[in-house]
Parts: sequence; C-alpha cells; structure tokens
Amino acid sequence: MNQTYIDTGYGLSGYEVKGLIPQLKKEYEWLSLAYSACLQQVCLNLGVAFNNFFEKRAKYPRFKSKHGRQSLQYPQNVKVFDNYLKIPKVGDVKAVIHRPIQGKLKTVTISKNCCDQYFASVLFDDGKEKPEPLTEGKAVGIDVGLTHFAITSDGSKFDNPRFFTKHERNLKRKQQQLSRKQKGSNNRNKSRKKVAKVHCKITNCREDFLHKLSRRLVDENQVIVTENLNVKGLMHNHKLAKAIHQVGWGMFMTMLKYKAEQEGKIYQEVDRFFPSSKTCHVCLNQVDSLPLDVRTWTCDKCHTTHDRDVNAAINLREEGLRILRVRNSASQAECKTHSRQTCGTRDKAVQRGLGGFPHERLRQEAYCPDVRRGRGGRKKSTTPLSVG
Ligand SMILES: [Zn+2]
Repeated sequence: MNQTYIDTGYGLSGYEVKGLIPQLKKEYEWLSLAYSACLQQVCLNLGVAFNNFFEKRAKYPRFKSKHGRQSLQYPQNVKVFDNYLKIPKVGDVKAVIHRPIQGKLKTVTISKNCCDQYFASVLFDDGKEKPEPLTEGKAVGIDVGLTHFAITSDGSKFDNPRFFTKHERNLKRKQQQLSRKQKGSNNRNKSRKKVAKVHCKITNCREDFLHKLSRRLVDENQVIVTENLNVKGLMHNHKLAKAIHQVGWGMFMTMLKYKAEQEGKIYQEVDRFFPSSKTCHVCLNQVDSLPLDVRTWTCDKCHTTHDRDVNAAINLREEGLRILRVRNSASQAECKTHSRQTCGTRDKAVQRGLGGFPHERLRQEAYCPDVRRGRGGRKKSTTPLSVG
C-alpha cells in the first residue's frame, strides 16, 4: 500500500490487497501460521483506513504497534460454549461468558489490554428489529459539569467521582518507581505493568460509574436531552483539561445514546451554542454574562432565584422537546402534501407547529439558529461487519 501510494498517489482497495495474500504466503512462510480469515479481515480494515485517509477523515495509516493494546478479528468459525471458546488454529480457550449468546454469531474480536487481560467481544445478530420510539413518558434534560457530574431537570445532582484524583498519588509513586529502573531490564518491565494496572483500575471505575448512571437515567425516562459538547475543543483550556479528561462526558453521552436506542427511547442533543445557562426558564430573559463561579443567580425581570445548573437542565429539556415537536410536525406535513418542495412545507409546518402559544414563540426566539457546526465529523465506519 505504501509503495503504491508513493508511486501513483492512489491506494489499493481492501479487496485488491486481499487478492495478493496467496502470493505473499509463498514469499513469507510465517503468514500461513495465522488463520486465513483473520488475514483477509486485516486487508479489509487496511482498505477502510486508506479510504478514510483519502476522504480526509483520518491521518495517513500507521503500522500497528506491538506494544499496548492488541487485537485480532475472527470474522467466522469461532464457536462459543458454556465456559470456553473454540478459536480456529488456537483451539479451546477457557472463558467467562457473562451473558447468553442468542442468535447468529458474526464477528469475534479478541483483544489484550496493557495489563495482560484478554477479552473476546462477540458480535451476534439476534434478529430483533430496533424498537420504534414512543413519544409518551417522562422527559429529562441533563446538564453535565465538573463540580457535579450530572444535573437533571428534576433537580437531582450526581457527584463527580474524580477517579483519577483518587488514584493520583498511587500512580505517581508507581511512575517514580518505573523511572528509577534501568532501561530494557526485566524489573522495568514489571514496573511498567504496575503502572498500567493503575490506569486500568481508573478506567474500570469510571466505566462502572457511567454504565450505572446512564442505565438509571434511561430506565427512568422516555426522552433524554443533553448538550452536544465539543469535548476536544474544551480540552484546549489547559487549566480544565485534566478535570475534563477524567470526567468522561463523551463516553457518558455515547452510553445514553445507545442505551436509549436499544429500548425505543429518544435521545436528543441540543446545539452547544444554545444559551442554556444564561436563559431564565420562567420568563426566557437572557442575561449577558454569567461567569463560571456564579452558582446561583436572580432573574432581573421575574426575580426568580435560579440554581445555575438546574436552570440549564430545564432549558435543555424544553429546547429538546421543541426540536422534537418541530420535527414531528414537519414529518406529518410532508406525509400530507406529498410535494417535492419539502423545504417550503417544512418551514410552514414549523410556523404552524409553533403558532399555538406565545410561550412557544418566545422559545423560538431564545434559540439562536444561525450557528452551524463545522463539517469535521467522522462518517460511520464503512467496515463490513463480516466477510464470512
Ligand atoms: Zn426570569
């Protein structure tokens, strides 16, 4: 691939590389030690990586490192039994199966993390359709923060557990021990594992917390509204970067999203430039500035005292519900007219949908729709799930 790119400026497709395998196997004997389907999968993954590069979604692919996390994909022929897996060319491997596997097996990915633990992610098709989202039930707005991890529009606040800070002293000691060991020595390697173990512990604690909280929020509510945060952008603030890195907002949003979709619930994101903190949720009056250290404030017009975060969460919920209402009325209008000028009908539908109450119209004014997001987003992966 590298040589083709240097010579022609183009790449080969994953399937073209796959076709080269038999010839390469003659040249390099060790290639036939590996299971053939895994090699094919690697070729397809390489094709996707180059495709992402050519379409400017990613940097030029690098060689896989032998250090750190390792992984291997079996697109077919892995069998799962009660307490072991049967893997081609490897044989039976003892495993803890933590949930029943019902359905057709697709891909099995074996991975090893930095502290030498092995995992098998089993992808299977259970043949069930995605449940249609219902529109009845409770709606909740969730604002995330650093003092409190999450604040819901019901007024409940969840503490930020700060797992990294909790283990920071331990990590520091182990890192110091590591740096005292001679390079390339066996003791250094042992020490390195100890550092990795602490990192692993922190990750596990955080994941556990996020899974439990997101599960609870999804179970209790039908519609979940959050802010569409630019976590990477926020990390540029070097005073907050460490705190933002350990809090795990991005992972939390991802969990909320897939958990909601699995159960036919609605997950809605609100634009990050929507002024959720600065708007009074009672009279929709907007204040000019609200420094981060102001935790409670009083509205000038209606003299309500707001808790900063709860007010933001309520505003997020209202804004999310407004977006859903607009989308529903727009799709209904489209069904009725069957006209090709969907843009025109959508605009009218939006006006009609919002014409009901003066309160609703104010909601629209409180929102600033002229802000657009950049087009830097990644497309969904184009990897085929299975070649089997
Ligand atoms: Zn007010």
